[in-house]
Amino acid sequence: MPPGGGAISPNMPELPEVEVTRLSFVERIQGARIVHLRMGKPLRWPLGTEPNRLVGQRVLGVDRRGKYLLMHLDAGCLLWHLGMSGALHFATTHPPAGAHDHVDLVTDQGVLRLHDPRRFGALVYVPDLEDARAIKLLGHLGVEPLGGHFDPVAFHAALRQRKAPIKQVLLTGDIVVGVGNIYASEALFQAGIRPTTAAHKISRPRALKLQQAIVRVLERALEVGGSTLRDFSNARGESGYFQLEMSVYDRAGQPCQQCASTVRQIRQGQRSTFYCPTCQKP
Ligand SMILES: [Zn+2]
Repeated sequence: MPPGGGAISPNMPELPEVEVTRLSFVERIQGARIVHLRMGKPLRWPLGTEPNRLVGQRVLGVDRRGKYLLMHLDAGCLLWHLGMSGALHFATTHPPAGAHDHVDLVTDQGVLRLHDPRRFGALVYVPDLEDARAIKLLGHLGVEPLGGHFDPVAFHAALRQRKAPIKQVLLTGDIVVGVGNIYASEALFQAGIRPTTAAHKISRPRALKLQQAIVRVLERALEVGGSTLRDFSNARGESGYFQLEMSVYDRAGQPCQQCASTVRQIRQGQRSTFYCPTCQKP
């Protein structure tokens, strides 16, 4: 069985990867006019409009919400999601589309290509963000962990409403977005909290510690990813998880770096969780 139990793909793009992807092309695509939209095999959800109807529209900007990229057009918005295995690359020219290149957004400033072997990614057009489809995809998302919107007191108050184990509450993403499986394990280690602890039992000081740990882990991932930005823009459809220094994730059976206890692995909601039984208290 592969590390992590096989249930997750180590290459699944998380919030930091999505943000670095955005940074890799946001400036170059701004103001571009759409010339053509080529759609290959079906993705997770249908586009929601005729590709030809986008021709002539300008790209006003690209924001991110959770793991969605929001590409604002003259009229409407394209929502991009990388799913389990997607990668977006913007270049003036690309080689002919391969078997896993499912979208080419051709503009007068370059081509944005979606490469997605597993096709859990998506490109969805909405006329505006009040549209029912946009609300369905974005409406339940929790606060953004980066950029100063993530309030520790509100975080603690939200945790007090949940009886589920803290790690599963984090993964749900409706309190705070972007804390995927790896980041949840690492942040809980840094905060000294056992992943199985019921969320509502976490005291305010521990919740504040966890809030800081989440921000720190994600900022570190962005930093590491940011340093690979140059490679990203030249990449040939290969994406990889940012190489973070892991304290517990994927280290089952190895000594904890802080106390030398043996790192444990358990299953929670079909995902692998790693923790130190000594450093992380219930
Ligand atoms: Zn330890």
